[in-house]
Amino acid sequence: MKITIIGTGYVGLVTGACLAEVGNDVFCLDVDQRKIDILNSGGIPIHEPGLSDIVARNIAAGRLKFSTDVAASVAHGEVQFIAVGTPPDEDGSADLQYVLAAARNIGRHMNGFRVIVDKSTVPVGTADKVRAAIAEELKKRDHNSGFAVVSNPEFLKEGAAVEDFMRPDRIVIGIDEHTPDGQRAHALMKKLYLPFNRNHERTFWMDVRSAEFTKYAANAMLATRISFMNELANLADKVGADIEAVRHGIGSDPRIGYNFLYAGCGYGGSCFPKDVQALERTAREYDQNLLVLQAVEAVNDRQKRILGAKIIERFGQDLSGRHFAIWGLAFKPNTDDMREAPSRVLIEQLVSRGATVAVYDPVAMEEARRVLTLDFESRPELLQRIRFVDTPVNALEAADALAIVTEWKTFRSPDFDRLKSMLRQPVVFDGRNLFEPEIMADAGFEYYGIGRSVKA
Ligand code: NAD
Repeated sequence: MKITIIGTGYVGLVTGACLAEVGNDVFCLDVDQRKIDILNSGGIPIHEPGLSDIVARNIAAGRLKFSTDVAASVAHGEVQFIAVGTPPDEDGSADLQYVLAAARNIGRHMNGFRVIVDKSTVPVGTADKVRAAIAEELKKRDHNSGFAVVSNPEFLKEGAAVEDFMRPDRIVIGIDEHTPDGQRAHALMKKLYLPFNRNHERTFWMDVRSAEFTKYAANAMLATRISFMNELANLADKVGADIEAVRHGIGSDPRIGYNFLYAGCGYGGSCFPKDVQALERTAREYDQNLLVLQAVEAVNDRQKRILGAKIIERFGQDLSGRHFAIWGLAFKPNTDDMREAPSRVLIEQLVSRGATVAVYDPVAMEEARRVLTLDFESRPELLQRIRFVDTPVNALEAADALAIVTEWKTFRSPDFDRLKSMLRQPVVFDGRNLFEPEIMADAGFEYYGIGRSVKA
């Protein structure tokens, strides 16, 4: 099938590459010429395991192309995926300007039936706005090709995106099928996703609004589990219980399950923070307050400061003359994504109190440098206090303590003797509970996990 992907970011590039991999002819459009140039010269603008092989293979097979040519992109695909960003607006609602710009472009150039698929995470009711934007452009041209707008939210996880797309837990497709165009869209979507349903049927067909809502409900639920555990972890620290033991104790109940119950230093990324906010905002438009989600957000904002708070409690408010090693900058492992990363909050807490930091991440160094430079644009003297180093060991030199912010596998079994000898004092703040408190104590470390202050 001929497919167009509008927006070649994390979601668009993975979607385009994976749809090409199963034999489709895919045209990826982006407005960012730099991104398209990188892709056309054989590079990949993001870090995502397995992606570069798929992209290279499908470019070579002639099934995947990248361009900034809007008219050509609309002409190419009978199915047009919109996978552009939906960042938070000032009031927390999803900013739909990129989605609607993409929709208008389709309306301006289409010359035959098109299925427009909202893959971006968009608030309930957005399909109606996309439909109206296209209809308005068609009217201006006095053109009346048929079209249908479909919701097909994406559930891939950065760091495992290719695997998630190729073997999804579920595929959610919302179509309002009461028109012939809707029925035609259903047939095309069914054909497109057939290769991903071979082992067993994974598609949930529903109306458009329910599909749009499903994406927000999923992210809100996951964020809730994290904030719930983080709040309990903070209490565990006070009462002298081990949140990891508690996690095992409750996770074994199949109604609860083990996944997504890890306490830590808060969630970040491009999705949970903005989607929780956007859902709250949607609810307010309908005069409803989502009390649980307000608490989820407040708990997370506090949790992102928890490592800094523990460090301040240990070393005092004035951190001048102190130096800290930070392992892990990306918001989670296996990605270079720094959006809303807890590391940014910790770094700000430390350097604004006079400390210097040496920071290391296995893949996010370049992105971290870019993002932190912007964070400290108005306070360049604070940026001077951040040293970017090229190995985890180099970060440790003369540090008063080590803080771990991202649970990269490579941090799990360090050479503890070396760690101890390099730190000025053997203090570890473990924001992801990578280590066992008892083992750390036996090894002579002063160890601070999240919710692990067991009183014997
Ligand atoms: P991204 O910022 O990585 O990519 C978006 C791309 O769209 C950018 O390259 C941008 O230049 C391009 N773009 C903007 N306007 C355009 C236009 N009019 N025409 C063509 N290209 C345009 O964003 P992302 O992380 O891929 O997220 C995209 C959407 O998918 C968001 O709504 C997000 O919430 C959702 N989502 C993201 C993830 C994730 O893990 N990143 C997972 C599921 C859903």
